[in-house]
Amino acid sequence: MQWESFIGHKLQRKWFSNALKHHRLASTFLFVGPNGIGKRTFAYLVAKSLLCTETPDDELTCCNRCETCVQLEAQTHPDLIYLAKDEEKTRVTMDQIVNEQSGLCYELRIRPYSGRRKIAIIDDADTLESEQSNSLLKTLEEPPPGAIIFLIGTSEHLQLSTIRSRSQIVRFAPLHSAELAELLVSNNMANSLQEAAVLANNSHGSLELAKQFQDSSFNDFRNQFVARLMQRPMNFVGLCKFISDHVKNEVGDGQPRRNRLRWIFDETTAILRVALHQRVRASHASTASMSPFAFLDINTLTKLIELTIKAREDISRFIAPVAIIESWTAEFTNIAQA
Ligand SMILES: [Zn+2]
Repeated sequence: MQWESFIGHKLQRKWFSNALKHHRLASTFLFVGPNGIGKRTFAYLVAKSLLCTETPDDELTCCNRCETCVQLEAQTHPDLIYLAKDEEKTRVTMDQIVNEQSGLCYELRIRPYSGRRKIAIIDDADTLESEQSNSLLKTLEEPPPGAIIFLIGTSEHLQLSTIRSRSQIVRFAPLHSAELAELLVSNNMANSLQEAAVLANNSHGSLELAKQFQDSSFNDFRNQFVARLMQRPMNFVGLCKFISDHVKNEVGDGQPRRNRLRWIFDETTAILRVALHQRVRASHASTASMSPFAFLDINTLTKLIELTIKAREDISRFIAPVAIIESWTAEFTNIAQA
């Protein structure tokens, strides 16, 4: 991966460029934003720019040719430490952080192979529990000279205040539809820009979601879900069962299940936002093409959006998916039909 083919997040790129130019780079960064929009790749490219031996230290560029760049591309460079939760685990473990021979804190303390610096990327930072976060604090407080640590998560509110206060928080927004469409074409995930544009619009600015849409069973699910959400009168008992059955039977346990649930809430929020927009402009618009939700008042729509955003946040708090679905559908019905 190189900067030349990296799409989106121009502001963040400019910000890092400036920080490097003025030698004002923090030692810990917390990258937050939705999954599948390029935060990890961005951190990797910053690391590559800092370690590349052929480009100036105060420029956010890398040559992609030197031995360091080649090793980084092959993920074999000893000065870049990448840590993520194991696939079969739900969290990053203590051992991954504090193991005396292979843990992150140990690896960071070893003298850099290149003599320059060590860089760590901690993915899945949302899954760090207090114990794990606390074990990182000393390293964040007194990092080895030149060391830089990137924590990658979805929200700063999922981190302890002690982690937040020691990190420079960088927020990443979903990709614009046009950017995601470009990315889909360059990754051969769409045959034409037109096909890519449709896929991008449905994917809430996330490449990860676009990948799910390529699966036809997901597409079927989406169509049925939207139809049930729009059904009048609302049948939220049926909707609750439909979602619960789907996440229980069709999606793997753990992360995939939580991601699918996140998509359901994002899709609902998007539909409600369209309705809110239509409601605000109702006096000028034809009612024929309006969402059934657009007939609710603005206050009710706002409450439904807030409820759905809160339900989405509960997913990261490791509340059981079934409990989240049940309480969301019950409250949704109450508010929508009050
Ligand atoms: Zn290089």
